[in-house]
Amino acid sequence: MPALDIQQLRKEFPLIDEGARRDKLIYLDNAATTQKPLCVLQAIDRYYREYNANVHRAAHRLGDRATLAYENARDTAQRFLNAAHRSEVIWTRGATEGINLLANTLPLTAGDEILISALEHHANIVPWQLACARAQAHLKVIPLTPEGDIDSEAYGKLLSPRTRLVAMTQCSNAIGTEPPLAPLIAMARAVGALFLVDGAQSIAHRPIDLQQLGCDFFVCSGHKAFAPTGIGLLYGKKALLERLPPWQGGGEMISKVSFTHSSFQPPPLRFEAGTPNISGAIGFAAALEMLGSLDRNALIEHEQALLHRAIERCQQIPGVRRIGNPRQQGPVLSLEVAAMDHKDIAAQLDMAGIAVRTGHHCAMPLMELLGVKGTLRASFSLYNTLEEVDQFADRLEQIVTGEP
Ligand code: PLP
Repeated sequence: MPALDIQQLRKEFPLIDEGARRDKLIYLDNAATTQKPLCVLQAIDRYYREYNANVHRAAHRLGDRATLAYENARDTAQRFLNAAHRSEVIWTRGATEGINLLANTLPLTAGDEILISALEHHANIVPWQLACARAQAHLKVIPLTPEGDIDSEAYGKLLSPRTRLVAMTQCSNAIGTEPPLAPLIAMARAVGALFLVDGAQSIAHRPIDLQQLGCDFFVCSGHKAFAPTGIGLLYGKKALLERLPPWQGGGEMISKVSFTHSSFQPPPLRFEAGTPNISGAIGFAAALEMLGSLDRNALIEHEQALLHRAIERCQQIPGVRRIGNPRQQGPVLSLEVAAMDHKDIAAQLDMAGIAVRTGHHCAMPLMELLGVKGTLRASFSLYNTLEEVDQFADRLEQIVTGEP
């Protein structure tokens, strides 16, 4: 695959490739999930056709091959994220499960504080509400500035020796804001707090170097980065993971079991109870290999060009208002069309083969803060083109202005 030839890339995605489709599709719902390239479909297909077996306990060749592919996938993820140790990568069902794993194992005591930002997805709010309720700890919210950035002054005031963990997104799925994580992580470190980065929206768009970023934990979902659904990962620093207790019990995660006592594997297996999503991990690795083979700077430039064209076109449409941060953004554009029902607009776009999303985007508190019920969201990915953005803006304009 050439470094970044968008037309060539489109051919790798059966649902995107015009040559392979009967109907038109302009897929602008990439923040919800991405389409899958042939290399991922083939890796999964090969596993089931050629070496389907359970991992780790097999006494036969197929099991050995499946185990090797599953554990190689972990190495691929480690390399892709530049984690220091392979045991720092724990397979989960997705970002949501990764956050829940942490929220269920991080020791909290009464009076401890967890900080989240006002930008968070429900997946990075609700598990912390539940954890705080169990431990009689307190959940505090870092506010935004009027421009929609993290208010770092307010953040500094909220941080204290009682802060156990700060949990923050690397990119808002609802409005695209990208908090400046490095200084925020340094501020947390200064008071002895841990930092979890929710990378669900950044994994497909930004190169991620976890050792450089310096966060303690990181989660992401494969399906938002061209991999199948049902697979994701939790990264945690080795020394921290080693201190966390198991979450779910079952096979794989134990070293010895009797009816009175069980002892557990070290990480990562301690946190991977039961038969894992073997094909998912293999597919995820194929997606990361594909992404890693691309010129990431060119990819950022391409996606930013899509975003800026969309912003420029949509803000000229009467009655359409951009919601969110006017400055730096991930490739997510949220719009409000006050005079119309967003669902009706999306249905009309859908009739023209254009897929977008409407609603609160699992960020109800953020929507409330921004004073909207929901938005119409177009989110872009590597296979989108400027022509597609123009067609989206043209059709949106026709719908909003009542043109036929
Ligand atoms: N965090 C963010 C920022 C997201 O956008 C999402 C999904 O949209 C999640 C977490 C949850 O991801 P998943 O549903 O794949 O677990």
